[in-house]
Amino acid sequence: MTSALYPTYARADVAFTRGEGAWLFAENGDRYLDFASGVAVLSLGHDHPHLVETLKAAAEKPWHVSNLFRIPEAERLAERLVAATFAETVFFVNSGAEAVECAIKTARKYHAANGQPERYRLITFEGAFHGRTLATIAAGGNPKYLDGFGPPLDGFDQVPFDDLAAVEAAITEETAGVLLEPVQGEGGLRVFPHEFLRKLRALCDARGLLLVLDEVQCGVGRTGKFLACEHSGVTPDIVALAKGLGGGFPLGACLATREAAKGMTLGTHGSTFGGNPLATTVGAAVLDVVLAEGFLARVAALGGHLRQRLAELHDRHPRVIEAIRGEGLMFGVKTRVPNGEFAAAARAEGLLLPIAGDNVVRLLPPLIIDESHISEAFDRLDRACARFAAKAEQLGAA
Ligand SMILES: *Cc1c(COP(=O)(O)O)cnc(C)c1O
Repeated sequence: MTSALYPTYARADVAFTRGEGAWLFAENGDRYLDFASGVAVLSLGHDHPHLVETLKAAAEKPWHVSNLFRIPEAERLAERLVAATFAETVFFVNSGAEAVECAIKTARKYHAANGQPERYRLITFEGAFHGRTLATIAAGGNPKYLDGFGPPLDGFDQVPFDDLAAVEAAITEETAGVLLEPVQGEGGLRVFPHEFLRKLRALCDARGLLLVLDEVQCGVGRTGKFLACEHSGVTPDIVALAKGLGGGFPLGACLATREAAKGMTLGTHGSTFGGNPLATTVGAAVLDVVLAEGFLARVAALGGHLRQRLAELHDRHPRVIEAIRGEGLMFGVKTRVPNGEFAAAARAEGLLLPIAGDNVVRLLPPLIIDESHISEAFDRLDRACARFAAKAEQLGAA
């Protein structure tokens, strides 16, 4: 199949014409349960009435005015993000990588504003994913994403996952802070222990470092709290958000305390599209739902239920499934068969799942699902597992 698009993605050969809640309908009429959610983007699923109404109304007003002028929609959304989190100030962007870029620049500029411009390095973790711009591939440190793109941007020192001693050993006079995903997404759904985050916060405080969190995937309610770091009780200095924030509309944000953002003064950063009326109006509609009374508690409860069902699946198919990990509605199933083959088998059973590193398939359902969707997913996963068991038997008999 030739296409005018760059061949950079391993796309499944299926295209969709309609979506409804957690369901997607293909051109040929096939129906899929969407536990990919456009990679954790569709926090409210497909065709959510409140988002559709909001976007239609916003389409009749100015879509874009640029940051040459005040944007009341952006001001209001920033106020709501501030009210809902640790943050005191917000910068809007259009994607996850841009949100992380802004977070990195904010951290570097903080120390420059303190008269220590030599403190520009961030400590990062193995298995991290922070985006595909030149800075964020350097931060992520994945050799596959760096290869052939010239010398990686300087300023990132990577240490093993969950290794506080290694963080301590990596701190130098040039260290600005620590950058991590509280729950690693692309790297294989690894959850940093809450105790580790608390110790890391204490270490940052002791050494004058900024704690910078990339919650592009795990933020905006995905784990059952608005920010994943709330599970550990840790207060960060800077947080990058995107994916779920726009519910499918490209929108990202960098959240910070006033102190951490003190270097980001007039003229230090900018974005043509960032925070335009269309995007921030839709973002506000996402918050209407996610921050409504009881919504996040419901996500957490559904997550507990999903965890139970996945444990049951693990018990039933120990030869196919090696481990289950995650929090809220963000789970990883580490498979003993190649994860790409497992995702294809799940798709053949009508369940869409993204894969991740460490041979993991992810479950990232829309946050609006109910228990019936979890039962449907379980049945489909059970049948996908059975396909491998049947295959193994055939091989054994041959
Ligand atoms: C997806 C993701 C990014 C990059 O987001 P883009 O919108 O693709 O630029 C950055 N960090 C994390 C944790 C992500 O999951």
